[in-house]
Amino acid sequence: MTTWQVSQLSWAVAAMPALLAAAVGVFAKPCARAMQPRTATWAVTFFAVVASLCSTYALATMAAMAVGRLDDVADVGGWAPDALTGPSAAPIAVAAPTAVALAVAVSWAVATLSTAVRAVVRVERLSRRPHSQRVAVIPSQRVDAYAVGGITAGQIVVTTAMLAELSEAEFGILLEHENAHLRLRHHLFKTTVRLAVCLNPLLRPAAAAVEESAERWADECAAREVGDRRLVAQAVARAALAAQRRTRGVPAVSPFGTSAVMMRVDSLLNPPSTRRGSAVVSAAALVVAASLGSTALASMHTERVFEHAQHTYAATQ
Ligand SMILES: [Zn+2]
Repeated sequence: MTTWQVSQLSWAVAAMPALLAAAVGVFAKPCARAMQPRTATWAVTFFAVVASLCSTYALATMAAMAVGRLDDVADVGGWAPDALTGPSAAPIAVAAPTAVALAVAVSWAVATLSTAVRAVVRVERLSRRPHSQRVAVIPSQRVDAYAVGGITAGQIVVTTAMLAELSEAEFGILLEHENAHLRLRHHLFKTTVRLAVCLNPLLRPAAAAVEESAERWADECAAREVGDRRLVAQAVARAALAAQRRTRGVPAVSPFGTSAVMMRVDSLLNPPSTRRGSAVVSAAALVVAASLGSTALASMHTERVFEHAQHTYAATQ
């Protein structure tokens, strides 16, 4: 294989995890919509985490070329900094900005994780207070309801405007929906994907896909408890219309969550087939396998470059 071919192959291998992360981002929403919500939430979260870790690792191997060229680091590592070159090595013009981007991404992820942990601990503490109520009603003109999850407990918040809009049966559906969010720890799925997005912003659509599928999952739980999918669909649509009416023309959002209302109603009335979901998961598994394979190749290339630099260093001693 010529030097030029080795170089091209190395770049293709290094870029593969980022491209695959972009593919996961692009296809996350349509694929999630084709799956049962529970499967979609687990699958998109899993694929987003794998894609972000693979692309971060690929960036780290490139960044190592920049950091490894620093004299002090090379002394400690026992390699010749000038030998970190060749067809398999990333040039400094690429490696240096990659190192900076990686540092920013990791810092962003750490800050996001820290904020999420503090919020979860605060909710847990509040929920465990002696007179704390599972459902808190707050005075507000905004038609809204949401669940805030802790570690083992959580709270449901409902505005007075929402209470005024719903019938008793619809309020029961809302509580089942929000309880499902808490019981199934949907906030942990969302936080996990947010962390993946911090490491690779190309995965941002995956976060929206998990938001949507978690809403559908909670709708399904409510439908199972109530035993009437049509009634749940009606409650979701009615709450969205009430929110739209009160906010005078602002695009409709469901107070049971902010995801697209029409999609949720459609999913309740026409649930996606299990067979189509299995096909999507199989295709996504291939994408992950390719991502893991290219990450492993990128790692081998980097290892080879550093081994060469270490041999060069040893020969000059
Ligand atoms: Zn919801």
